[in-house]
Amino acid sequence: MIDLQLQAVEALRSISRNEKIKKYLLQNPSLYKIVLRAAMRFIGGETLAECFHIAQQITVNGHAFTIDFIGESTRDEKAVNLATEEFLRVVSKIKKTRSTASISLDLSHIGSVIDKELGHTNAVRIAEASRKAGIEMMISMEGIDRTDSILEEYFRLSKTYENVGITIQAYLHRTKKDLQEVLKRRGKIRLVKGAYKVPETEALPLGSKTDKAYKKYIETILSQNYLCSIATHDENLLMHADTIIKRHKLKINKMEFEMLHGVTPDRLLQLHQKGYKTREYLPYGKEWYLYLCHRLAENPANIYQALADAAGNVL
Ligand SMILES: Cc1cc2nc3c(=O)[nH]c(=O)nc-3n(C[C@H](O)[C@H](O)[C@H](O)COP(=O)(O)OP(=O)(O)OC[C@H]3O[C@@H](n4cnc5c(N)ncnc54)[C@H](O)[C@@H]3O)c2cc1C
Repeated sequence: MIDLQLQAVEALRSISRNEKIKKYLLQNPSLYKIVLRAAMRFIGGETLAECFHIAQQITVNGHAFTIDFIGESTRDEKAVNLATEEFLRVVSKIKKTRSTASISLDLSHIGSVIDKELGHTNAVRIAEASRKAGIEMMISMEGIDRTDSILEEYFRLSKTYENVGITIQAYLHRTKKDLQEVLKRRGKIRLVKGAYKVPETEALPLGSKTDKAYKKYIETILSQNYLCSIATHDENLLMHADTIIKRHKLKINKMEFEMLHGVTPDRLLQLHQKGYKTREYLPYGKEWYLYLCHRLAENPANIYQALADAAGNVL
């Protein structure tokens, strides 16, 4: 059974990278609609209006939310500028609706892979608009080939924008050193395990070794009362954070638990009911295909759920 699960995960990873399958999906409206139904468990729809509609329920549950206009590795300058405009629309909508929300983005979605300065200019536009609106802008962490340039851009932005935060990946060996530099800045730190395929020499394997590193980073960050987001669904790590906070009587005003929309929502609610600040990460947009494949690959049981969701009112 385990072998079968691993095979399913590998198959999903390869499906997610297969451009022919993606094109086929895009050209078949009926199939597209069915697969979109499965994606809707994890995304806020394809438009900003849909996303805000779904965000209402998140707010009713007492959580803050983070909006990401899905996309990464965009190599077309027009698309990059359109994505920047879309993020500016998100900022203005959050401000207008006075939502307890922040934004999150991949630098490679707004120009960094075309030209460093184009990426910087667009990041500044969004960071400036966010600062004026009193909104946090989180930068996602991408593959290891981009870690240096993402951190460099974060350090550059953080000289002017305290509302800009950074995601760090517990599985990378280099994080031990990077964290020391990141802690010298004021922006929020979002701690994740790490989702990208990385050479064995660069990272700990996912499992007990990464979890041990994650726990150590939780303690480092929390003990300094640093602005942070513990972004995991892992029960063992959630319990560890809770234990550390209680054992050392740490303040919890600057920390929050953040989870992906549609993944373990009951657990997030429990944390909220315990008095913790909680947040859901809610991505939207038409580029949901890869995002859906990642969520399914993370937890093979989701494949059954996706089939049921996709069948929806078809059955
Ligand atoms: C807010 C947020 C932002 C993120 N940003 C980044 C980023 O910028 N860069 C990056 O590399 N990674 C990012 N990630 C992804 C992260 O690195 C992990 O891949 C992902 O969170 C799964 O790891 P986990 O800590 O939940 O632990 P896991 O060991 O993957 O999961 C622990 C348990 O959580 C549950 N679970 C986890 N995923 C699922 C799922 N899809 N469906 C159902 N149950 C599930 C299962 O019960 C599982 O046993 C982000 C995650 C979050 C929550």
